[in-house]
Amino acid sequence: MTAPIIRTLPELRKLTAPWQRAGARIGVVPTMGALHDGHLSLVQAAKEHCDHVIVTIFVNPKQFNNPDDLKNYPRTEEADARKLARFGVDALWVPDGAQMYPEHFATNISVQGLTDVMEGAERPGHFDGVATVVTKLFTQTQATDAFFGEKDYQQFLVVRRMAADLDLPITVHPCPTIRDIDGLALSSRNLLLSDRARTTAPRLIEEMEALSQGVANGESFATLRDAAEKRLLAAGFTDVEYLSIHAQDDLSSLQAPTRPARLFAAAWLAGVRLIDNIAI
Ligand code: AMP
Repeated sequence: MTAPIIRTLPELRKLTAPWQRAGARIGVVPTMGALHDGHLSLVQAAKEHCDHVIVTIFVNPKQFNNPDDLKNYPRTEEADARKLARFGVDALWVPDGAQMYPEHFATNISVQGLTDVMEGAERPGHFDGVATVVTKLFTQTQATDAFFGEKDYQQFLVVRRMAADLDLPITVHPCPTIRDIDGLALSSRNLLLSDRARTTAPRLIEEMEALSQGVANGESFATLRDAAEKRLLAAGFTDVEYLSIHAQDDLSSLQAPTRPARLFAAAWLAGVRLIDNIAI
C-alpha cells in the first residue's frame, strides 16, 4: 500500500498525536526525494527500530548555495511514493515551501566548528539551511529517532550536534553508505550524469580506496593525494575541491590517520558535484 502523502502541519499533527500519547517510537527519514537504495536503507533501519516511520521529502531551497543546482535537482514524487510502498511506512511528509518557510520566517540555526571545513567551507550557508530545516522536520514530526546516511558524514555530525545542543529528545542514527556494484556511492545527483560520465564516476572511490591503502602502507598522504588528484583530472574530472583526512569525531584536519579518521572527497565531473567518504 502506498503511504499517505501529508502536506499540511495540522494533518501531520493529527497523525502523530495518538502515537505520542501511546509513547511510541517515531522514526523520521529526512530526504530531498529522487529516492534510491541508499535512502531506502535508511527507511529499512527506521522500520526495524521504530513503531512508526515518516519519510520526508522536501527539496530545501535554504541549503542550496547554487541556484542551478536547486533548479536541476531531480524531483520524482510519484516514483518515490511507489518505491516506499513495500516498506509500509506510515506517512510521507511533503510540505511545500510556504508550509516550511511562511512569510516572515526569520530563524536560522547555525552550528559552529564542525561546519568550518569541507561542505561548510565550499558551500556557504549550506549547513545553516540543513540545520534549520532538520530542526523543523524533527519538531514537526515529533520523532524520537532520526536516520541519516554516512554518505553525508559531515551532515550527520552537524545534525547530531544540533540535536544535542538544542536538547531535542531525539536519537540521530548513522547508516552506512550504499554503493552501486562498481563502487559509486548512490546519490540523487547521479541521475544527472551522462552515460559517459557515469562510467568515469567510480574513479573517485577507486582513487580513495587506493589512497587509503597507500596511507595504511605508511606512504605520505600529501604525495598520494597529489597523484590521485592528477589522475582524476586526467580521467575527466574538472575539479577536485577537497581530498582530505579528518578526525571522525570533530572533523579536525589530519595529515595521517593518527586517531579514528575518514578520508573525504568532493569533485566535479561533467557539471555534477560528487562527494564521498570512507573510514581510513
Ligand atoms: P538527500 O536526499 O540526498 O538529502 O539524502 C537524504 C538522506 O539519505 C541523507 O541522510 C543522506 O546521507 C542519505 N543518503 C544519500 N545517499 C546515500 C547512500 N548512498 N547511502 C546511504 N545513505 C544515503
